[in-house]
Amino acid sequence: MTRVPDSDLKRRFGTRAVHAGHIADPLAGAVMTPIYQTSTYIQEGLGRHKGYEYARTRNPTREVLEANVAALEGGRHGFAFASGLAALDAVLTLLSAGDHVVSGENVYGGSHRQMTHVWARHGLTFSFVDATDSANIAGVLTPRTKMIYAETPTNPMMQLCDLAAAGEIARGAGVLFVVDNTFATPYFQRPLELGADIVLHSTTKYLNGHSDMVGGMLVANRDDLAERIGFVQNAVGAVPGPFDCWLALRGTKTLALRMRQHDANGRRIAEWLTQHPKVKRVYYPGLPSHPQHDLACRQMKGFGGMISIELGSVERAKKFAERTRIFALAESLGGVESLIGHPASMTHASVPADMRRGMGLTDSLVRLSVGIEEVEDLIADLEQALDGAG
Ligand SMILES: *Cc1c(COP(=O)(O)O)cnc(C)c1O
Repeated sequence: MTRVPDSDLKRRFGTRAVHAGHIADPLAGAVMTPIYQTSTYIQEGLGRHKGYEYARTRNPTREVLEANVAALEGGRHGFAFASGLAALDAVLTLLSAGDHVVSGENVYGGSHRQMTHVWARHGLTFSFVDATDSANIAGVLTPRTKMIYAETPTNPMMQLCDLAAAGEIARGAGVLFVVDNTFATPYFQRPLELGADIVLHSTTKYLNGHSDMVGGMLVANRDDLAERIGFVQNAVGAVPGPFDCWLALRGTKTLALRMRQHDANGRRIAEWLTQHPKVKRVYYPGLPSHPQHDLACRQMKGFGGMISIELGSVERAKKFAERTRIFALAESLGGVESLIGHPASMTHASVPADMRRGMGLTDSLVRLSVGIEEVEDLIADLEQALDGAG
């Protein structure tokens, strides 16, 4: 648990990305945060130490990452975890048996799996709703509801949840509002400013941005909430190691630059895909044809590099996904390199088939994570793969 200094919050996004959270190195004056690869710290005497006693509780490298990401989200308190799903686990640990959670139905497959296969066994109950209409959220609230959980844009259907509207419902009902901001990143969307209590990230994706570590983050503004999350972080202990924190920290420095390029490439490719005769439908919030494009323009400053496309046949989807040469066939997203995936058999295989179909996640849907390569090369790659896909 790390608190962001006021001075960091006064600066603009790109400056925060490079500098927020960094501490002066007293030993050598290192410009970059050192990797404090240690499990424990020397105490000068009984009860006399520098505030660091044991590395599950506090580690300087982790604290810089926590303050850095919290500052990017415009939040006061950051908490790093070993993965995005470990961060979700910490969020749900705030609740008690018998509590009810309202969640968007089209959340990340692993989030849905943790809720239904782990937490449901421990006495939490869940209602999964189409969160594109906030009336659906309000409609299932009960006196036992303690949390509203939303992901926007969703993975992989690129549906939006109106954060201001859902935040108002949460406030009215006195329940926590948690938002998974992994897809948009704080560069394009800041849920805390729109009424969220907690922002969740898989730092594995855009925040780290180089596909070389797995991690998660929580950011909160309220001191009382931060205290509870900090307790869970230390008591449950799913903390990341210092080297992974350092990698993520190196990633966040270039977040603004990378997101601008993901967004520019994403817009060009989404537009190009809408013109292609073999592509039946393009899901991208930046397209005027997206049913929630107006909302996207209101609550997001850009649309990023995630695009899903409907190819109309499973055979074509499979062939297409296997034929791209620059877009690598792989799980995950948000790295500098372009990736292609088949959600129904990969990231969302754990979501029941009827639930997948209900939200339009067909077996012929393909998801693109558009990287920061030259867009002409990416388009040529998609074109040759579509040509060969039948
Ligand atoms: C990947 C992902 C997660 C889970 O994060 P891990 O780091 O893989 O545990 C959660 N939410 C979204 C939107 C994701 O893409």
